[in-house]
Amino acid sequence: MNNLLDQIQNIVGPSGILLGDEVAGRSDSWPPTGGCQAKALVRPASTEEVSKVLKLCHAEGQSVVTHGGLTGLVGGARAGKDDIVLSLERMNGIEAVDTINRTVTLEAGVLLQKVHETAEDAGLLFPLDFGARGSATIGGNISTNAGGNSVIRYGMIRDQILGVEAVLADGTIISSLKGVIKNNTGYDLKQLFIGSEGTLGIVTRAVLRLRPLPRSRNTALVAIEDFDRLGRFLQYMDRPLAAHSVHSRSCGTIFTS
Ligand SMILES: Cc1cc2nc3c(=O)[nH]c(=O)nc-3n(C[C@H](O)[C@H](O)[C@H](O)COP(=O)(O)OP(=O)(O)OC[C@H]3O[C@@H](n4cnc5c(N)ncnc54)[C@H](O)[C@@H]3O)c2cc1C
Repeated sequence: MNNLLDQIQNIVGPSGILLGDEVAGRSDSWPPTGGCQAKALVRPASTEEVSKVLKLCHAEGQSVVTHGGLTGLVGGARAGKDDIVLSLERMNGIEAVDTINRTVTLEAGVLLQKVHETAEDAGLLFPLDFGARGSATIGGNISTNAGGNSVIRYGMIRDQILGVEAVLADGTIISSLKGVIKNNTGYDLKQLFIGSEGTLGIVTRAVLRLRPLPRSRNTALVAIEDFDRLGRFLQYMDRPLAAHSVHSRSCGTIFTS
């Protein structure tokens, strides 16, 4: 190991850094194009460790690529041979579920599916959903501003986030872990990290907004004849629930013909 990697190992411990074949044996994109080329893969276990690793890399001019669940479809997590990968895979804890204020506070490496299960256990819903739910992480979802199959009803993940904690390239920890919907206290820093693909910092923790669990679900395959009718259909479905004959979750995936 070179001096920088030694120092990183001192921060994250021996199990917190992978080298050689352990790195090459991993993928770093979807669909896979071969093994991960990075010179090391670092697996911090806390925000403080992320901060110390980034501070060190910043001082050494070392490039860092962040890994969540590696389901991103645009190659944003692909690393070159001179990069170090920082994976959130060990930061996967659910910290608190607040059923009164309908929030969950968690680490960024938690899988989307785990959030669904946690919310449902509490009689609540986290509406962001798509096919990669069993592999994608909340940090990756935030960094890509994921939408998914309930986006028309509930919005992008931008609409599901109340607070974010992130670490900047120089190791500075920015904490904006607010758990309230009405928050007009100055700059809304979390918005900068949503959709920025790790370019501004590494998302380490978040407060997510949960919704009431729908009492029933109805599925319909709707074929729309033209684009104009699609708009009118969506307007109809978007009316208050009381206007519908059943209480249902409206407008998931829409197929047009
Ligand atoms: C089968 C499938 C279906 C999908 N369907 C949809 C869909 O319907 N709608 C939709 O919007 N998207 C969809 N996606 C894309 C999906 O939104 C992303 O794959 C997912 O959000 C990325 O999460 P991840 O943890 O896998 O991130 P990764 O793939 O690991 O990373 C994605 C990007 O975010 C960065 N990043 C990851 N974690 C962090 C972090 N903690 N802090 C800072 N940067 C970070 C990475 O460097 C990379 O640039 C789908 C993907 C698949 C494979």
